[in-house]
Amino acid sequence: MAEPKSITIPAAVDLHVHFREPSTNKAETIDSGSKAAALGGYGLVCDMPNNPGNPTWTMEKLTAKQAIIKKSSYIPIATYTGSQPESDNLAELPKMAAKSIGLKLYGAATTGNFVDYDPAAFDKIVAAWHKAASAKPIMLHSGKDNLAEFISLITGRHSHPLHICHVNSAADVKLVEQARETGAKISCGVCPHHIFKSESDVRTQGWFARMQPPLVDEDSAAELFKLFATGEIDVLETDHAPHLTVDKWAAELENPDAIHDPNHRTCFGVPGIEFALPLLFYQMSRGRINLDRIIDATSKKPAKIIGVKLSPTTKVTWRLEKYRVGDKYPKGLSGSGWTPYMNNLAVGIVEKSVVGGKTLIENGKLIARLSQVANSGSVV
Ligand SMILES: [Zn+2]
Repeated sequence: MAEPKSITIPAAVDLHVHFREPSTNKAETIDSGSKAAALGGYGLVCDMPNNPGNPTWTMEKLTAKQAIIKKSSYIPIATYTGSQPESDNLAELPKMAAKSIGLKLYGAATTGNFVDYDPAAFDKIVAAWHKAASAKPIMLHSGKDNLAEFISLITGRHSHPLHICHVNSAADVKLVEQARETGAKISCGVCPHHIFKSESDVRTQGWFARMQPPLVDEDSAAELFKLFATGEIDVLETDHAPHLTVDKWAAELENPDAIHDPNHRTCFGVPGIEFALPLLFYQMSRGRINLDRIIDATSKKPAKIIGVKLSPTTKVTWRLEKYRVGDKYPKGLSGSGWTPYMNNLAVGIVEKSVVGGKTLIENGKLIARLSQVANSGSVV
């Protein structure tokens, strides 16, 4: 058989990961998550603030997380500030804004929170953030029916740049487009699981396929992929949110019907950063998306949204070998030890990676770390 071809492309940038450290979730660490990211072709990721049991709502927590990044990360990581109506941290926002890449808001029922919020409850937070960092985006996890109101609050009332995380419906993409047409600075992203898995997986895999927002039916997933491939959805964001299989199992055994209230165990989220690009390259090999669009969606656009510059030398060489994920990586590549993509076909193994002028991967092996905290204005 002929040697598979290689391609060298800009390192990928992920706007949305949960590397879980420091927190009560032991499925991932900065070390293991950034290793999975590097092996997945990423050169920069942005870590979300809702660490279980330890949200990044104060300067002290933010500094503690960044200290771990500076010690143990394989690739540069930027961090988000968190603020919720109940977090009572308005006074902390100016200090945290200077050290963060953006602000994450949870407007939805998700882990540890059981109702969708009234967007008006975030008015003071948005005003304070805008005053502190008018160019640093707000990343929104919207609720089921409050997206339009959030868009109007953030991009209308406060004229602040907004990124809608993990859209899972064409209707949400439409709302983003409409806002863009009125001049709003707005973007949106889709996750690998919302285009490569579907709610039929929940029927057969239970909690191993549950996440927030939930998977959608097969037709909607195909529609989302199309919106992504044509560029109506701006970026791919992995929402890499690992859990150990014992914790997925506990939720499955105790709460198989997935009742979402404080009396029932829940365990939303899946790992995904390590195979995000190989899953896309497989689609590329089938003619469903082109390479320019993949580079745009996984590197150029996300870097632009957070105001980071990618150096022309920050590049990843992929060997375009085709494989079934479960055959090649039965335990995945993340610290959680499993992957929801066991049966998926994939193309691409990272041969070489150079980030920030440093060779991190050579001949497929991680050989160095670049343990840096990135911020807007950084050159990576
Ligand atoms: Zn998330």
